[in-house]
Amino acid sequence: MNSLQQRDAEVIVVGAGPAGSTVATYLARAGVDVLLLEKTVFPREKVCGDGLTPRGVKQLIDLGIDTSEDAGWVHSRGLRILTGDLTLELDWPELTSYPPYGVSRTRQDFDDLLAKTAVKAGARLLERTTVTGAITDATGRVVGVEAKTGEDKREVSYRAPLVLACDGVSARLALSVGIGKNEKRPMGVAVRRYYKSSRHDDPFIEGHLELWDRSDPARPKLLPGYGWAFPLGDGTVNVGLGMLSTSKAFRSTDYRALLRQWLDGTPEEWGYREENAIGKVGGAGLPMGFNRTPHYRDGLLLLGDAGGMVSPFNGEGISAAMESAQLAAEAVVQALARPEGSSRERALQGYPMAVAELMGGYYRLGNVFAKLIGKPAVMRAATKYGLRINALLPLVYKGLSGCYDAKGGDVVDRLIAAAARATPSPR
Ligand SMILES: Cc1cc2nc3c(=O)[nH]c(=O)nc-3n(C[C@H](O)[C@H](O)[C@H](O)COP(=O)(O)OP(=O)(O)OC[C@H]3O[C@@H](n4cnc5c(N)ncnc54)[C@H](O)[C@@H]3O)c2cc1C
Repeated sequence: MNSLQQRDAEVIVVGAGPAGSTVATYLARAGVDVLLLEKTVFPREKVCGDGLTPRGVKQLIDLGIDTSEDAGWVHSRGLRILTGDLTLELDWPELTSYPPYGVSRTRQDFDDLLAKTAVKAGARLLERTTVTGAITDATGRVVGVEAKTGEDKREVSYRAPLVLACDGVSARLALSVGIGKNEKRPMGVAVRRYYKSSRHDDPFIEGHLELWDRSDPARPKLLPGYGWAFPLGDGTVNVGLGMLSTSKAFRSTDYRALLRQWLDGTPEEWGYREENAIGKVGGAGLPMGFNRTPHYRDGLLLLGDAGGMVSPFNGEGISAAMESAQLAAEAVVQALARPEGSSRERALQGYPMAVAELMGGYYRLGNVFAKLIGKPAVMRAATKYGLRINALLPLVYKGLSGCYDAKGGDVVDRLIAAAARATPSPR
């Protein structure tokens, strides 16, 4: 067979993070021959906060994964919100769409588990295989990928009628066919580190809406950014902070120093000190609010971070990556059952439509939110006054966590859904 006729799979999935392993699992279960290409070797570290809201837990349940504590998941009952002088504890809401608990698990474990699930379903996983770009035909359609594989970085190519970009924030595959990012959409940067801490079995995950530098106790200084602490139940806590590109300090900040400045001012007994730290500070970008589109073009689908799907409200990206995977699998299975050509293309166009329907309005609203809270005065007013109005809390809480019933639900759910629908697309 010459290289033009070569076909190595029905679908090539590039990247075995949450998006890639999830879509590979669904496709393989539907009987599709899937080649899953991953540059690293599992189990491996991935810089992340390691936390899932109930929205992400639903995705695990949909995949058939046991999310019980016996199966190694740490459950959270809700979110503790902290500002300089206010602490609120809010249980995850009772909803039709999502379970009433969140989970945490290191990405080292989490991604390994998802990749194993894909392999068990029948996907062919090739590790240590870095995709360097797309192969296109004369019409510009993506028909495969170029890669370097193995210890010796041997150059190889793989071909398939459909290619799914699940390669994360680097989005190398999308870039190779000229799909760049929209600079008008918000971007985040986040850093995190693990600490041995007595708070490792706290039943709440924490969101710190204000970061204070207390090195001079007489004159505490408000730092830019927002922090989190996600207990991992194994003696450690994942602690980190992030900042939005809408903030003035975005480009000029030394994030590692900022983390240290903040944590040195937290209570000694929490344990977030150098002597309790495990490993180095890790950081990465958070592509938000659909900052890379179109999500389908010429045989290439973009999923998860590769499609800029991190929530501008809270920096959560795992649930969106898995949701996009579920929707992509549905569209791809339908497409492959049709003859090549316009009918198949129509089925594939169903993917960006479904992603836009699920997340588009909420993210448009999130992009507006990101712009507003990038202004310190707005953020200060919101934390100082907004969080003290009890009637507003469910709105803030459900809105920020994305945990609301988009259909039906209570008055708060309906309000968020309506606001999401009504927010116009930015130019
Ligand atoms: C510090 C930090 C904290 C975060 N905290 C949270 C959190 O608590 N909860 C949450 O939901 N989200 C969090 N996020 C966001 C979350 O990590 C991402 O949104 C999520 O991992 C996206 O999943 P993905 O599958 O799209 O991409 P990724 O998880 O990035 O997976 C991409 C995969 O593709 C592989 N790959 C990349 N390039 C290539 C290539 N060229 N060839 C082959 N393989 C390739 C990578 O090795 C990787 O396995 C955080 C992010 C950061 C940076």
